[in-house]
Amino acid sequence: MRASQLQEKIETKLFECLEDIAEEIGLNIPFLPEVYFIGRNFKFETLGLSEKEREDYELVKKGRQSIFFHKQKIILIGTNNIEHISEEAGHFLHITNSHLTLYDKNTKDYLASWIIAEMLGYFSSKLINPDRKNPLNRYPDILNEEDKCMRIINKKGWDTEDFLIYQQGYNLGEKLFNAYISRVTSRRYIRNLFKNNLKGKNNAYSTFLKLRKRLL
Ligand SMILES: [Zn+2]
Repeated sequence: MRASQLQEKIETKLFECLEDIAEEIGLNIPFLPEVYFIGRNFKFETLGLSEKEREDYELVKKGRQSIFFHKQKIILIGTNNIEHISEEAGHFLHITNSHLTLYDKNTKDYLASWIIAEMLGYFSSKLINPDRKNPLNRYPDILNEEDKCMRIINKKGWDTEDFLIYQQGYNLGEKLFNAYISRVTSRRYIRNLFKNNLKGKNNAYSTFLKLRKRLL
């Protein structure tokens, strides 16, 4: 398939995911994001982003990952994969409904906000693709078994902060999805999570702890 055809296909799929997730949870789509498929010949300059974003862009391109730039409302998709597309659609809905910001927070609230964002991204992708498997749940929980986990992280050469965010976020997202489909957790509860801006000292952190207690 030509890059332009793939671009069109992925953009259409992402907009469909947005509609489906928004309808399921009862969320607004205030406007549409810009969506770009980052193929081999894609040029960073096309995006109109500043040099500050170049490093993230290069990582996305190299690892064929995907990313949502909150401020610019731009989604980059590195692999034509429904898990990537639906997760980024979920991130877009979360950030545009909550107006959550990450960079005005202390370390604990910053990490907790990011974890909650990944939780909702993963949850969204499960709504679209319930068969998605969480690759991080085979490792011990880093908050319960830190030493054991650190040995694995060091051996694999992973980034500890990334591991913490994605393990906690994806595990909570999986549990949230299970609670939602078995009607233990209501649609309204999920909607409020998508709309919560987590502002104020300790708000994000205490919300994260409550979610752990409720779901794990
Ligand atoms: Zn994500």
